[in-house]
Amino acid sequence: MPEPRDHMWDPEVQTLPRAELVELQQERLDRVMERVFEHPVSFFVDKLALGGFGPGDRVRLEDLQNVPFTVKDELRVSEAESPPFGDYRGARLRECVRVGATGGTSGNPTFVLSTKRDIANEQDAAARMFWRQGLRPGMVIANAHPLGVYGGGLTLTTAMESFGCLVLAVGELESDSAVDRAVDLWRRCKPMSYQIFPATYVKVYEAAVRAGLDPVADLNLRPPMESPDGAERTISAGSECFSFLGSACPEGGGAHAAEDYAVIEAVDEEGNPVPDGEMGELVVTTIAKDNFLIRYNLEDYVVINPEACPCGETGRRVRWKGRKKDIVVVRGVRILPGQVAGVVFREEAFRTPTMEYQIVRRGPEMDALEIRVEYDEERLGDRGKAARGLEDAIEGELKVPCRVELVARGALPRPPYKPERVVDLD
Ligand SMILES: [Zn+2]
Repeated sequence: MPEPRDHMWDPEVQTLPRAELVELQQERLDRVMERVFEHPVSFFVDKLALGGFGPGDRVRLEDLQNVPFTVKDELRVSEAESPPFGDYRGARLRECVRVGATGGTSGNPTFVLSTKRDIANEQDAAARMFWRQGLRPGMVIANAHPLGVYGGGLTLTTAMESFGCLVLAVGELESDSAVDRAVDLWRRCKPMSYQIFPATYVKVYEAAVRAGLDPVADLNLRPPMESPDGAERTISAGSECFSFLGSACPEGGGAHAAEDYAVIEAVDEEGNPVPDGEMGELVVTTIAKDNFLIRYNLEDYVVINPEACPCGETGRRVRWKGRKKDIVVVRGVRILPGQVAGVVFREEAFRTPTMEYQIVRRGPEMDALEIRVEYDEERLGDRGKAARGLEDAIEGELKVPCRVELVARGALPRPPYKPERVVDLD
């Protein structure tokens, strides 16, 4: 184990020269391809055939883009047609030790099967993230992620345990009384850090204030702050592919991807690579998991930052920009929630105690951007003037007409996991 003041969890791997890293990727990719045909994994045998690859063919990294990508809906179809686990699994069922299911926020959940090696991949990548975040073995950590089949809390909890932390895991905080119980536990045990979805963090913070506690002094709970660049500090390929794909070092500039475990690409709508530094859809191939996915398209927008990082890590940095399903088109301009957040965040009355906003989408294209923002009455002053000020700021920045509706604190929904930033209304 590294010394606490070291910069990295695994310096040897995290600073592997690019040429060696690429060589390692190719070796691991070769083994994945062998497995596809040996097993055989019929879902990916078909995908490889479409890319012109058959048994015995070597898929070079630079040729990987010829293999058609796979999206989540195809995994759903595979599971429906070959129940219960589909025909895309690299490992046999008897080799698997854990089953989970994806959240299902955008359709039916799919199953996540893991072997011991799959879990070890995630735990190692998670350890790099914890270390970059300043966590160290021996710390006490709070965790409020769901701990059952649904939600990835079990993966997170066991990753923190294997890293060497004492985890105060309370599971999903579904009711107000569960939130109050968690606040009481954490008040008594004072965790040094919290691993909670932003929306739940807000609930916990608000409950601590309601209970008359000082969140910082009593719980080490800093005010929630969804800073516009916070979303770029971690990158996930989903629990079905690779939860802990990467995280940012103190230099920022995106999240260092664990490229020894995954080949990452940013592609356009047709699956062709976009130039480095341009926005594309994230496509991930896991190369060290038994239950691998080949060219899995997350339908998330990212920018891959090819610049060498001053910290010495050689995994390229990935900036997460938003989900494809959250695109709002206003007069031909495509807008992602993160761009709106960047402007809303500037006004203290909108970002404190938490920043809560929602974009209203009415159909595939709109004449004006419509947003709802919670405001803090004590800090705001003239409400009409503040709304117009925000409209002007957004119009100036995003170059589209904007209508702002200011709503009272607590008026917008607080879903348990990720906040829904875009709501569809007719
Ligand atoms: Zn770095």
